Amino acid sequence: MITLGKYSFGLGDRFGHQGHAQLMAIMAAAKKGVEITPVWNKSNREHIIIGTQPYDVRIEADSVTTEAGFRKPYFVDADHINLDTVDRFIDSSDFFTIDVASYIGKRADDVEIEQFLSGTSGYAGKIHIPGIDDAVKISVSGIGDIAEKYLFAAIKAGEIYKKIEKVKGAGNFVAEVSMDEVPSPQTPVELFFILKMLAGRKIPLQTIAPKFSGRFNKGVDYAGDPLQFANEFEKDLLVIDFAVKEFGLPGNLKMSIHSGSDKFTLYPIIGALIAKHDKGIHLKTAGTTWLEEVIGLATAGGEALGFVKELYMKALEKREELCAPYADVIGIDHSRLPSGEEVSGWNSSKFAGSLRHIQESPDYNSDMRQLIHVGYKLAADRMDEYFRLLDAHKDVVADCVFENIYHRHICRLFNLNI
Ligand SMILES: [Zn+2]
Repeated sequence: MITLGKYSFGLGDRFGHQGHAQLMAIMAAAKKGVEITPVWNKSNREHIIIGTQPYDVRIEADSVTTEAGFRKPYFVDADHINLDTVDRFIDSSDFFTIDVASYIGKRADDVEIEQFLSGTSGYAGKIHIPGIDDAVKISVSGIGDIAEKYLFAAIKAGEIYKKIEKVKGAGNFVAEVSMDEVPSPQTPVELFFILKMLAGRKIPLQTIAPKFSGRFNKGVDYAGDPLQFANEFEKDLLVIDFAVKEFGLPGNLKMSIHSGSDKFTLYPIIGALIAKHDKGIHLKTAGTTWLEEVIGLATAGGEALGFVKELYMKALEKREELCAPYADVIGIDHSRLPSGEEVSGWNSSKFAGSLRHIQESPDYNSDMRQLIHVGYKLAADRMDEYFRLLDAHKDVVADCVFENIYHRHICRLFNLNI
């Protein structure tokens, strides 16, 4: 079976130009003794907005790894696919994020539910999960509620998995199940029974992406209670450990955090807890690579700065349309967005500083950052010009991309001295 390494990073690269700089960050971590498997991911939504094909990501991943002489495993992730969208990803991907969010809350038929309940009746009462001090209490009706909420989604995950397996063959790809894009978080006890359901559908799950408490808005830091997150995250780690043994799931099954990028408050917490329990992690992050391209062009000045200023003005104009597909995962205070007139007078450092995710910087503006983050369609609309500028300022942009992934993400997660 193809297995995913202990540590892996999901790297987003919307326009397919920064794979090399991203890989350099992964290789810099290896030099410091942290082996991270790169996974290039791109969702159906991003492909549609930009007009790319899943195969483009494969070409990028293959070429940047070959050029760099990178001989370790790497993957191409069909990100957040479901039964309707999986087909065109199958050939070019070897990692599948099976998204069951839209199936959660739909009821499986009675026979399935009864079957599940008869197989889990032994867990009613108290479940002792090694490492968790207090036994987890759950009643028969509590298990019933979980089955009503999640069993249908698990059955669908099984169908999607089978569809992929039929083409690729068992063991030739990594399967993840994601449930993060939903309004309410899953509790550790729910996660336990969800894993039971997925094991029951014979999915050789290697990563699972639950939803945690708090907000994981795109491109900005975590908004929520870090202590509560730490508590949930640690329990989830222990639940996964127990479920692996209990249900015969793959031994390397690990947590996948769909961070929406830049959850800087959480990285040290996650890093400390996986070290404490000697666990792996898949961190899906850096869809903000696109933002680093904008920051790089702003830094380059001249025509490139003019281009990104125009892009911001257009984004202001079209903000409703741009924000709509991301409504659940952004939180923009529109009153904090600078006007086009104001921005037109900015120099490189002011523009780049407003977007660069350094919270201590007086220029940093998280609202403007989020708006540009969802505004990549505007660059896609002027693709030739955009690519010409990216090529002309290749080095400065690559530096921004590297700095972001290596220093702001990897070093924080693995507590590396910069
Ligand atoms: Zn996600």
